[in-house]
Amino acid sequence: PFDVLIVGGGPAGAAAAVYAARKGIRTGVAAERFGGQVLDTMGIENFISVPHTEGPKLAQALETHVRENEVKIMNLQRAEELNLDKGMISVRMAGGATLHARSVILSTGARWRSMGVPGEDIYKNKGVAYCPHCDGPLFKGKDVAVIGGGNSGVEAAIDLAGIVKHVMLIEFDTKLRADEVLQRKLRSLPNVKILVSARTTEVKGDGQKVTGLSYEDRVTGEHHTIRLEGIFVQIGLLPNTEWLKGTLDLSPRGEIIVDAHGQTSLPGVFAAGDCTTTPYKQIIIAAGEGAKASLSAFDYLIRSSAP
Ligand code: FAD
Repeated sequence: PFDVLIVGGGPAGAAAAVYAARKGIRTGVAAERFGGQVLDTMGIENFISVPHTEGPKLAQALETHVRENEVKIMNLQRAEELNLDKGMISVRMAGGATLHARSVILSTGARWRSMGVPGEDIYKNKGVAYCPHCDGPLFKGKDVAVIGGGNSGVEAAIDLAGIVKHVMLIEFDTKLRADEVLQRKLRSLPNVKILVSARTTEVKGDGQKVTGLSYEDRVTGEHHTIRLEGIFVQIGLLPNTEWLKGTLDLSPRGEIIVDAHGQTSLPGVFAAGDCTTTPYKQIIIAAGEGAKASLSAFDYLIRSSAP
């Protein structure tokens, strides 16, 4: 059995693996897709000490760093079930194999909910963005839209209004759902327009990048097209935790509930990164949390029986 089995190979899982292996304990990483969301990212400019890199390059660097340590990497492996039995944890994989470990770190990340309209996939990273902290500065002085009037959409619109030329906030419902204080702040900004009862129908582009967005006015049924260069989709971040429902405590949003040490509601099971309740889903935060969960797992192991 492993001393530490890490499920998920994004920045959180990679950091956890390096920290665990450096303690000289048996460490394994099982990941559906080593690299995680980083593989889907173009420019990354907020990983401190690395002013600019690209997703695939950083993913490769994560893997190289993990491979320099004694870690068993099991790529293309999806975990489907976790069980606790007499202090030993077992994780059943989609292929049928079961892995055993004295402690587990869950770092299965999350995925952005997409609009599912024509053009969205084609122009991902070419004007269609999901993270204002990451991509906001790329749209300096340009016209953008934010899709979604919940807290994350309104926060994104307020944030972007300070960087871009104009923000159009588009909400499907008849009103915004964000906290009143955020809505008040949003309405006070001169370069923001709010559109409610609007259903986005298409992302328009010139083959290279986004040039506009079409929507249907749900009151009149009329169709309109706006010219803009960026679209920030803020309709939800879904944690990859469906397989853990009923096994350990999840928040109403499906995030694994962790304490300041990365401890979950199950003894010996820790979690880190975008799949947890830790706020702000970012590479540097996921990596830091992965390191922390790993140190917590080590602390747990030295306090439990059998070296
Ligand atoms: P992830 O990166 O999501 O990795 C999860 C891992 O778990 C993957 O290996 C996945 O295959 C695996 N997995 C999932 N389910 C299972 C399962 N059941 N069994 C086994 N393995 C499983 N952040 C920044 O800081 N800067 C940026 O510029 C930036 N740009 C971004 C651009 C895009 C397009 C996207 C999508 C995200 C961006 N982010 C950025 C966010 C950043 O990528 C995430 O915060 C970070 O990758 C989270 O790391 P993680 O390790 O928690 O999860």
